[in-house]
Amino acid sequence: MCMICVDFLKDKMTLGEARRALGEMRTTIEPSHLEEVEEMLQKAEEEQQADEESSSQSQP
Ligand SMILES: [Zn+2]
Repeated sequence: MCMICVDFLKDKMTLGEARRALGEMRTTIEPSHLEEVEEMLQKAEEEQQADEESSSQSQP
């Protein structure tokens, strides 16, 4: 775990902030963990998009 995971999972960081932090910190994060963080953010992005889609589709 790195600062990005900790803050993001505690909702102290938005997706956009986490993305930016990842860009700044990617050279200091272990490559294997970097993959995990990218996966986590991508999943969160997909979930956010799915939420937006389902809420707009719920309108008749
Ligand atoms: Zn981490």
